Amino acid sequence: MHAEPTSPPPKRPPRRIAIVGAGFSGAVTAIQLLRRAPPEGLQVVLINESGRMARGLAYGTHSSAHVLNVPAGNMSALADDAEDFVRYCRWSDPRVEPGAFVSRRLYGAYLEALLSAAELRDDGAATLERIVGRVIGLRTEGPGGRAELLLDQGSSVIADHVVLAFGHFAPLDPLPPAALAAAGARYIRDPWRPGALRGIGPADDVLLVGAGLTAVDVALALTQAGARSGRLVSISRRGLLPQSHRRSGAVPGALDGAALVAEMGGSLRQQLRVLRRAVRAALARGEDWRDLIGALRPHTPALWQRLSLADRARFLRHVRPFWEVLRHRCAPSAHDRFQQLRDSGALTVQAARIADVQAVDGALQVQLRPRGAAGTQGLRVQYIVNCTGPSADLQRCSSPLVRELLASGQLCPDALGLGLAVDAQYAVLDRAGRPSPTLSYIGPLLKARDWEATAVPELRVHAQQLAQRLLVG
Ligand SMILES: Cc1cc2nc3c(=O)[nH]c(=O)nc-3n(C[C@H](O)[C@H](O)[C@H](O)COP(=O)(O)OP(=O)(O)OC[C@H]3O[C@@H](n4cnc5c(N)ncnc54)[C@H](O)[C@@H]3O)c2cc1C
Repeated sequence: MHAEPTSPPPKRPPRRIAIVGAGFSGAVTAIQLLRRAPPEGLQVVLINESGRMARGLAYGTHSSAHVLNVPAGNMSALADDAEDFVRYCRWSDPRVEPGAFVSRRLYGAYLEALLSAAELRDDGAATLERIVGRVIGLRTEGPGGRAELLLDQGSSVIADHVVLAFGHFAPLDPLPPAALAAAGARYIRDPWRPGALRGIGPADDVLLVGAGLTAVDVALALTQAGARSGRLVSISRRGLLPQSHRRSGAVPGALDGAALVAEMGGSLRQQLRVLRRAVRAALARGEDWRDLIGALRPHTPALWQRLSLADRARFLRHVRPFWEVLRHRCAPSAHDRFQQLRDSGALTVQAARIADVQAVDGALQVQLRPRGAAGTQGLRVQYIVNCTGPSADLQRCSSPLVRELLASGQLCPDALGLGLAVDAQYAVLDRAGRPSPTLSYIGPLLKARDWEATAVPELRVHAQQLAQRLLVG
């Protein structure tokens, strides 16, 4: 007897991973997935609201005044190839050194090129589908089931797994509702919106609400075209300003961060005591305090995770403003230009908050309350620009997708409002604290888990680890 010929088992379609958002986090996760795709195949679907894939909020700028705030040598998008970005820069300018601060526009072009190169992998195992559209809803079929992403244009995408990489949210309004109403179109809520600053003329006086890196960017963009007769006033709660990176070419000192962390203990008080002592000792030895912050950086998540919730809250209340200006530094050229504006009187920085805004004769009459003062001080400006930076507040964001996932309990904000509850494997935790088998998260909202999570040197490692985990899971 002849055995009946058996037909081969039906071929399983390749796994399909959808990524919502194609800023740095989404694009680099896609790149890592494409580079590591298994021989049986992988489909990656990258969905972004705008057609500018791999740019996102930070690297979509058209202004050449906007430079990276991290030296080129530490901006490789690939955690396993530290030289990649410097090599890319040297294609167009062989003189670029690892200590150089190049434009954010160039960095966006680098990410785009890297994504295209990963897409053209020559063994055909992996495919990349790019979709321009806004994801407005998500349905999952239950544990282990597939997910359906609903897009604003009415279509949908089915995937085995979804990576949420939607980035930060638009800045929150720092003005009370009555002041917002009075300011009307003279208030610029989101300076990152394309063309947002276009209406501001060289003779206009402008109040910048915030004095961090966003205010530096806005001041440089407004003064890029040359001298302006209008004044710029920047306010923040304490009037603290970002520090400069070390000058290009200066050699960082070799400090042992692990040894320091071992001494630091688990309470905020102990950690700060050891840090202050180490700063004093480093300065006494003639070293740069930046080296200390740099040496702690890889250990910051471990230090953060040691703190109790009460200590984390204490840190946010009392230490955060000082930490932000020391840790999130500007490129020396941006710092120098900002300082020149201050020295020339074109820009002043004040510790103050807005008490009131009235529209008067085609301008805005603002009452500022200087820090510690009982009274107010008047300021007349043509525009107010919100420079408080992107928001991480899930509860107050306007994204329909996030609102739906929050309402259904599939996403959960952390207790301190820093971001999203995510486990060590990047699985999103639901309202009951259970890791989702279908939803992962990567991006700046990992700050809730790690505190240090918003810049390329951290996000590239997260993208690599997340891709590895998705390909074994
Ligand atoms: C102005 C600025 C400058 C920075 N400069 C540096 C620097 O020099 N060096 C450094 O190391 N770090 C820098 N950072 C920090 C860091 O690189 C960024 O925070 C990082 O780019 C975050 O990337 P992301 O992809 O998570 O978010 P984003 O860049 O915000 O990208 C998210 C993307 O998702 C899209 N999206 C959101 N929701 C949806 C949806 N529902 N459907 C479809 N698409 C959606 C958005 O349109 C966006 O394109 C900077 C950050 C900012 C804000």
